[in-house]
Amino acid sequence: MRLYEYEAKRVFARYGLPVLPGVVIDSQGYQQLDKVTYPVVIKGQAFVGGRGKSGLVQFANSRDEAQEKIASVLGKCHGGHAIERVLVEPRVNIERELYLSVIVDRLQHRFLLMTSRRGGVDIEEVASSEPEELLKYHLNIGADMHAFMARKTASGLGLSGPLLNAGTAVILGLYRLFVGYDCKVAEINPLAVTDDGRLLVLDAKVDLDEDAMFRHPVLKDMGITARHEVGELTDREKVAKKAGIPYVDLDGDIGVFPGGAGFGIAAIDLIQHYGGKPANFMDSGGAPTQEKLRAMLGLLLDNPRVKAIFGARFGGISRCDDWAKAVVQYVVENKPLKPMVMRMAGNMEEQGRKIIEQAKNEHPELFRKIKVYAYDMPIEEVIKETIRAAKAEK
Ligand code: GDP
Ligand code: MN
Repeated sequence: MRLYEYEAKRVFARYGLPVLPGVVIDSQGYQQLDKVTYPVVIKGQAFVGGRGKSGLVQFANSRDEAQEKIASVLGKCHGGHAIERVLVEPRVNIERELYLSVIVDRLQHRFLLMTSRRGGVDIEEVASSEPEELLKYHLNIGADMHAFMARKTASGLGLSGPLLNAGTAVILGLYRLFVGYDCKVAEINPLAVTDDGRLLVLDAKVDLDEDAMFRHPVLKDMGITARHEVGELTDREKVAKKAGIPYVDLDGDIGVFPGGAGFGIAAIDLIQHYGGKPANFMDSGGAPTQEKLRAMLGLLLDNPRVKAIFGARFGGISRCDDWAKAVVQYVVENKPLKPMVMRMAGNMEEQGRKIIEQAKNEHPELFRKIKVYAYDMPIEEVIKETIRAAKAEK
């Protein structure tokens, strides 16, 4: 879970890292501008970097100027969603910008500390055109960082005298908070040396392992609670998340109602392989309740882009009769009239088939475009038929 800069800075402050005191302001919070000393820097809060280059980092010398600049930043779109708040901090004069980060190196199964003397808004460019400017140090998982290593690293950044001590503390602090909070990424860019000889964390980025957040109740005290990156979810994904359904919108026209996640992915590949376009990924396995199954169908059938549904129920722990009941109830209640081509096999299949047959007899018109094949129908054929059905609907 990515944190906003102002949240990351709260975490940093707890580890004694040198962040500036700031206020967070949204469109209702302008009165807080009375509390700050000018000049200030105004920073739009977004999950995605590159704000400096997108005009989301602004300076102001007075309250009026600050208010005007904040208004110009709020509501701007960055990385797919609108800026809702800004962080306002005292402006400092930067002499040098350094880069520091710790990430998980998934290939090496170790942590990776990266540093550069060439921090700032062009770090990506530096990293790709002058890779020797980005220094990398691996650390074994479970090992603490020794102070001498931090000191050597700080010295490698060109820090000396009192700044060397300050840099050593920042590197140790960053690494310890990375480990301490189960981070995936902890980054400082820039770590600034100011013209008055201070070393300051001007930008902070933290990506937490969401699954480990329960280990850190203190985050809640800082106002950081597990949330999904709502700004990035589509409306349907938000509904799905609320209902506890793993669901991702794709841009095709075939709704995928697959059973488990593994088959969901295979179904997406197969649909594409045969020339169709999946409208979603969904995990509908794990013995979902009737209610959840109906919610799943709703997600697919309410999507105006969806022309046809591909469905599969391999009855294991998820029973065919439960699945059939949910399908029938959804269709009878909602009368979707979109073609659904499905296959059902396995646990309680016979009972499931009876439920479908009976519904077909009672509501022939509603079930006219709904087919439920059995095990003798290869899944590839079911998929091809769904693709044909979707094309015919256009
Ligand atoms: P990012 O572009 O999203 O990474 O946003 P940053 O928070 O890193 O800000 C971008 C750039 O703005 C920094 O690299 C600095 O050069 C500049 N900046 C941020 N705060 C200050 C400040 O207080 N004083 C000055 N002079 N520049 C700042
Ligand atoms: Mn930055």
